[in-house]
Amino acid sequence: PKLVYDFAEGNKDLKQLLGGKGANLAEMTNLGLPVPPGFTISAEACKVFLATGSVPPELADEIDHHVDALQQKMGKKLGQADDPLLVSVRSGAAVSMPGMMETVLNVGLNDDSVNGLAHHSGNPRFAWDAYRRLIQMFGKTVLGMDGDVFEDAIEQAKQAKGTRNDLDLDADDLKALATTFKAAVKEHTGREFPQDPREQMDLAIEAVFGSWNAERAILYRRQERIPADLGTAVNICSMVFGNLGMDSGTGVAFTRDPASGQPGVYGDYLQNAQGEDVVAGIRNTVPLADLETIDKKSYDDLMAIMATLEGHYRDLCDIEFTVERGKLWMLQTRVGKRTAGAAFRIATSLIDEGVIGTDEALKRVKGAQLAQLMFPRFDTDAEKKLITKAIGASPGAASGQVVFTSAAAVEAAGRGEKVVLVRRETNPDDLHGMIAAQGILTSRGGKTSHAAVVARGMGKTCVCGAEELEVNSSAQTITVNGTTIGAGDVISIDGTTGEVFLGEVPVVPSPVVRYFEGTLAADAGDELVASVHRLMAHADEIRRLGVRTNADTAEDAARARRFGAEGIGLCRTEHMFLGERRASVERLILAENDTDRDAALAELEPLQRGDFLELLAAMDGQPVTIRLIDPPLHEFLPSMEDLAVKVALAKERGEDPGHDAALLSAVERLHEQNPMLGLRGVRLGLVIPGLFAMQVRAIASAAAELKKQGKDPRPEIMIPLVGAVQELQLARDEVEQVLAEVAGSEGVEWVTPVGTMIELPRAAVIADQIAEAAEFFSFGTNDLTQTTWGFSRDDVEGSFFSRYLEKGIFAVSPFESIDREGVGALVKTGVERGRATRPDLKLGICGEHGGDPDSIHFFHEVGLDYVSCSPFRVPVARLEAGRAAL
Ligand code: PEP
Ligand code: MG
Repeated sequence: PKLVYDFAEGNKDLKQLLGGKGANLAEMTNLGLPVPPGFTISAEACKVFLATGSVPPELADEIDHHVDALQQKMGKKLGQADDPLLVSVRSGAAVSMPGMMETVLNVGLNDDSVNGLAHHSGNPRFAWDAYRRLIQMFGKTVLGMDGDVFEDAIEQAKQAKGTRNDLDLDADDLKALATTFKAAVKEHTGREFPQDPREQMDLAIEAVFGSWNAERAILYRRQERIPADLGTAVNICSMVFGNLGMDSGTGVAFTRDPASGQPGVYGDYLQNAQGEDVVAGIRNTVPLADLETIDKKSYDDLMAIMATLEGHYRDLCDIEFTVERGKLWMLQTRVGKRTAGAAFRIATSLIDEGVIGTDEALKRVKGAQLAQLMFPRFDTDAEKKLITKAIGASPGAASGQVVFTSAAAVEAAGRGEKVVLVRRETNPDDLHGMIAAQGILTSRGGKTSHAAVVARGMGKTCVCGAEELEVNSSAQTITVNGTTIGAGDVISIDGTTGEVFLGEVPVVPSPVVRYFEGTLAADAGDELVASVHRLMAHADEIRRLGVRTNADTAEDAARARRFGAEGIGLCRTEHMFLGERRASVERLILAENDTDRDAALAELEPLQRGDFLELLAAMDGQPVTIRLIDPPLHEFLPSMEDLAVKVALAKERGEDPGHDAALLSAVERLHEQNPMLGLRGVRLGLVIPGLFAMQVRAIASAAAELKKQGKDPRPEIMIPLVGAVQELQLARDEVEQVLAEVAGSEGVEWVTPVGTMIELPRAAVIADQIAEAAEFFSFGTNDLTQTTWGFSRDDVEGSFFSRYLEKGIFAVSPFESIDREGVGALVKTGVERGRATRPDLKLGICGEHGGDPDSIHFFHEVGLDYVSCSPFRVPVARLEAGRAAL
């Protein structure tokens, strides 16, 4: 298969092959938009490079062929001494990775052709500036030199000249800098800066390929769950120049506001600038609207193109463009990243504009975005000290101690502290710190600066362009209007309004949460809430999956119900044995004979009954799946080490350790090497007489009472950790007997389905047998993941998982998002075999995966009836269940 594609040969759907940038350059070329000619080297070539360490042998010939064609089209050659063809070499993966900036511009310049460029452009300053930029970018990204080597040299040149502005350096200064840069390359790498343009190009291509595995790229992929094996394409594009004078410039534009979703003209423009100057936030830009006065024709052309692109992509597009001496060129477009709020607003606006249908709109919003909209906001009524107001670049409310470096952010976050990373501007090396921080504050750059783009992508709060702040990283201070803030001082930033406050500002529930809570009406005038309401309604209408909640208290149950839960999928009854009730549990465990045990159970029963009364009442008319006690009993006892010390000390002092000694021997008796694989779940019920019966009596008598009150209690009893149908049958017999007894003595009737959790591989495999004794299954994917992988769910996340993630063994923890191939296959087996025995078997899932968007799509695919998740994730689950049905 071919490895190189002319821009005219591709289209927007070839992202896997050509990367996002290449595919969209091709699309724009074919739309007849002004794209500088060029070609794309496919991600397939990158994959070969990553696997073997060298590019595929046939690549060189293919590139030759495309370079020839490009030279012909442009009427000039790479390295041509009088008027050279110059190209950019830019990375572009299938998934946009804004943290990456592997770009080399002006490839094709050398000691000869720089003179030709100077002559032909009539602008020697420009030519030498282009050459020094090439050497600088090449040194940094291709040869791996420290960027400071170049920055320091520029700084020195400016000092020598007595200026702080790059633009004051003239042609001779820049020529001298180019010489200094070349010497630095020689000194640091032991080789000359390559003069052969083709060699420059080849090395740059390999550097882009290699950058796929740069540390920050790996980190970004992990953060964004991007697969490690996609590879990146490389785009070779003929250069156009935004730095030929004040009639030239470069900019970034959005067809709608990516922060709010509002229609209108958004973007930044920088006159007489090239390449990454805008994104890097090096100089402050002007609003795009100003381009209308600077260069009306280019502005009008741009507006027309933006309309074309929105119409074509039927979505918000972001655009990079350059104006070269009054002529507009398109350098990039893509369906743009946006904040969570903008995603909802744009989706419903596009319905209203007749551009897309409601199904399509629902596809365009994600559960993760809804989750973000549910984060708390700063309390507008709270007293607060405003320090400055800048650009709200990525919404959210973040408070934390000021840190000035990424390293400090990572360190503090490691200690569990909340920090706000404050920088003049961020660059890709700050990624670690940005991930670790609660929020990011910069003093330079606009909505399209690195900080803003990356923060939006990560859903992290960001305020940028706070020019009033003087950020001095080496002194670790911020000065603003006479106030000095140091490292460790707490500030709060509002990523929506751009406000920066001194100290911690209290937070309140977001409007979207108030809407779900029922305290803010959908039509109360909040446009975002109205959008959320419309798309939620559509999701509810089309979803097949039910959504229940995991809740153990009436309060949680009630909240989940307001959030749209259709019942409880898991009530963990062991949570009801904490606090003061521990003492009764202790007595149960310590009981040495039937009388003592029965007494302890009798103490617990009315308490349990009260719990179930509240829970069933809160969920009146909806199913409440109550799981009988699951965890090993020693979890209710004090730690063995502490007790042993206490007992030993008492003995040493000659005192009677009394109760503690009895407790210690019980703890020792119950001690297990692997408690997760020990006496828990159904096993407990089978060895401790009366325990399950007590719980079932409490459930049944609560239901009977509610029934008598005219209510509609719908308890379901669930037996945990079953591996053999015999276990279930024995437990079930006991349950049924108690249910019948209570119904008889209370004189009322109601239905209590009895089912089981499927959380052991064996249970999934013999689900056909288990279904003989179960009216429903609920997949316990936490334990099922633990027992399928053999990973201790309590230990691995803090242990070797980070290494596994780094090594790409999985892109996300299998405890967070279902492992489709392994654990998922067992779920599928359980579904198929269970339903083979009992076609009307009710199937749910109540592990953590029940609230995870990707997992929800899987559960929809395998045909479960419902997912159950924590109350706060219920809206997300409803939305994703709707999206899964599309
Ligand atoms: C599970 O194992 O997935 C489950 C829901 O039970 P628990 O988390 O209580 O073990
Ligand atoms: Mg479990």
